[in-house]
Amino acid sequence: MGAALALQLRDEGLAVRVVEARAGPSGERRTLALSEASRARLERVGGWPAHASTPITDIHVSQKGGPGRTVITAAEQGLTALGHTLAYAALEACLDARLRERGVAVSYGAACEAIALEEACVRVQLATGEEAQARLLVLADGGANARRLAGITYDEKDYGQVAITGPVWADRPHGGRAYERFTAEGPMALLPMEDRYAMVWTASPAEAAQTLALDDTAFLAELQARFGDRAGRFVRVGSRASYPLRLRVINTNVARRTLIVGNAAQAMHPIAGQGLNLGLRDAADAVAAIREAGHGDPGCGPVIERFRAMRRRDAGRGVLFTDLLVEAFGNDGLGMRWARGLALTALDLLPSARRSLADRMIHGSPGSAL
Ligand SMILES: Cc1cc2nc3c(=O)[nH]c(=O)nc-3n(C[C@H](O)[C@H](O)[C@H](O)COP(=O)(O)OP(=O)(O)OC[C@H]3O[C@@H](n4cnc5c(N)ncnc54)[C@H](O)[C@@H]3O)c2cc1C
Repeated sequence: MGAALALQLRDEGLAVRVVEARAGPSGERRTLALSEASRARLERVGGWPAHASTPITDIHVSQKGGPGRTVITAAEQGLTALGHTLAYAALEACLDARLRERGVAVSYGAACEAIALEEACVRVQLATGEEAQARLLVLADGGANARRLAGITYDEKDYGQVAITGPVWADRPHGGRAYERFTAEGPMALLPMEDRYAMVWTASPAEAAQTLALDDTAFLAELQARFGDRAGRFVRVGSRASYPLRLRVINTNVARRTLIVGNAAQAMHPIAGQGLNLGLRDAADAVAAIREAGHGDPGCGPVIERFRAMRRRDAGRGVLFTDLLVEAFGNDGLGMRWARGLALTALDLLPSARRSLADRMIHGSPGSAL
């Protein structure tokens, strides 16, 4: 995410430097679903690996053991795709290549270890022994450093859930359809990705440990039992990985001469695939705040305050929406099951409600920069 913002700031004519703790590529094997708006944002800075992406043309939403289902389609939105899936590694490689092409200095193995916020500049102590200095610091480090700054704290909530991810093949083509299924044990998603699905299966830590220990045949049988046959019969599964799920929200996304973006500001449950999408909107608003101030001093007070004001609504709503989904669909009382069924049925019957939900998922709250 920091790389995408660095490219945008470079396009604004600013001198930008990226410092990255990793010595090289992350080796992350996850698949990301990004909205059509995020694709457009990344494409504008040459950071969209089109060859590696798969369009999502519709999303089927259902709950296990309860009534109601709905399908949200791109056609209803007047779009060719609601979003796109792509490998995290492909996005990372594309952004890295673009940074090099655009002459943005990137220092790998240069973890930020200490930060001093001064009146006219920020000083950052790097693991390489070097001290870097800038008028504006953007923390896009997933939350590693913000706690070092006076007055910055996080609110955290452990969902008591683990996401199991991995590639799954079915006996029939996905046709661009993504599935979101709510079950008593936690939500699961199957996202169309090239010739297969990218699976996100959430479970309690104990259930996840058992599921991860299953061999491929037993795993596929478990998946089929939990997911049903709406996507066909699952015939193959690749290697699995797991991620503990927490909500972590910062008390302010700004400090003197500092903007805090992406997971460093808000790390969410992946239920609605909102994390990086929201982070890219943070980036767009950071650029807009700097542009509005006329490019004088990108770290001056008005830029910092403007960014805070711009992000309050969209980031707050994104976090709230995701958390509500987890709580509402995580509660398996009979009453809640019927309430969810009613909500899904209402959504299915009301095209305007589907359009409004899809619009929010794609673009965020009204007012975010394009
Ligand atoms: C299972 C799962 C599925 C998900 N699916 C989706 C999805 O479909 N769609 C979506 O939009 N989001 C999804 N997300 C969320 C998404 O992955 C994150 O929101 C996104 O990766 C956050 O990007 P970021 O750049 O803010 O932070 P990170 O990805 O955490 O990157 C932070 C970077 O900062 C570097 N760093 C750390 N410490 C330092 C330091 N001290 N100095 C310098 N550099 C440092 C790290 O090495 C890293 O490169 C998912 C998350 C999970 C767990």
